Amino acid sequence: MGLEENLPGILLVSVEKLVNVVRRSSMWPAQFGLACCAIEMMTTGAARYDTGRWGMEVFRASPRQADLMIVAGRVSQKMAPVLRRIYDQMADPKWVLSMGVCASSGGMFNNYAIVQGVDHVVPVDMYLPGCPPRPEMLLDAILKLHEKIMHEPLGEKRRLELAEKALTEPAP
Ligand code: SF4
Repeated sequence: MGLEENLPGILLVSVEKLVNVVRRSSMWPAQFGLACCAIEMMTTGAARYDTGRWGMEVFRASPRQADLMIVAGRVSQKMAPVLRRIYDQMADPKWVLSMGVCASSGGMFNNYAIVQGVDHVVPVDMYLPGCPPRPEMLLDAILKLHEKIMHEPLGEKRRLELAEKALTEPAP
């Protein structure tokens, strides 16, 4: 195989890797918590665990400045549309980490008032079990999400978002 045939591949892989390194090294989480899991999330951002080591020390109060949603706690039916609105307002590309058994499946709250898994409301990139997960577990999930981002082809996130939109929005 000649050099010319290899060159576009080499160039694209390098750009893709560079973009993914930048993306995973500057994730800013949206600042909101839903229940007891949020206490562990706040601890993870504080000095002892220090998520600032991975470029994500600023939890943003405006969703427009955030690209990571950590769903920390059970999602009530009343909160679901609010959560979805926050997700829609976040900058693209964006990722969702479902923290704890309540966010991932409803957990012990198997009743009509609680959404039985936040993936009914927003697409989830990483699930973290536990009740509540310790800060070490949250850090592990974040680092696993970083690994996942490193293997994401450019434009893949956008493609998935458009597919999800097509599924959830009513036909004109
Ligand atoms: Fe609270 Fe446990 Fe549910 Fe987290 S998983 S919101 S700690 S009950």
